[in-house]
Amino acid sequence: MKFKIDKSKCAGCGACLQACPYGAIKMGKDGKAFIDQSKCKKCGTCKEICPFNAIEKYQINEKSI
Ligand code: SF4
Ligand code: SF4
Repeated sequence: MKFKIDKSKCAGCGACLQACPYGAIKMGKDGKAFIDQSKCKKCGTCKEICPFNAIEKYQINEKSI
């Protein structure tokens, strides 16, 4: 399982950067947030906080990471 930001929905508000307890979310040069998967602890806080519903949870096969 992993969390992913849909760039087409992200408004670049920065709320998730503040909300992530692990500092795993960064703002890209394109003004869209992205998740550093190596730091993400899958807590789900960002998904809860995003006002634009841009963060989604994906169920993925461990081997495909
Ligand atoms: S909270 Fe949502 S809209 Fe705001 S920067 Fe994060 S992903 Fe983008
Ligand atoms: S799931 Fe938690 S640790 Fe991962 S990016 Fe979102 S707030 Fe940060």
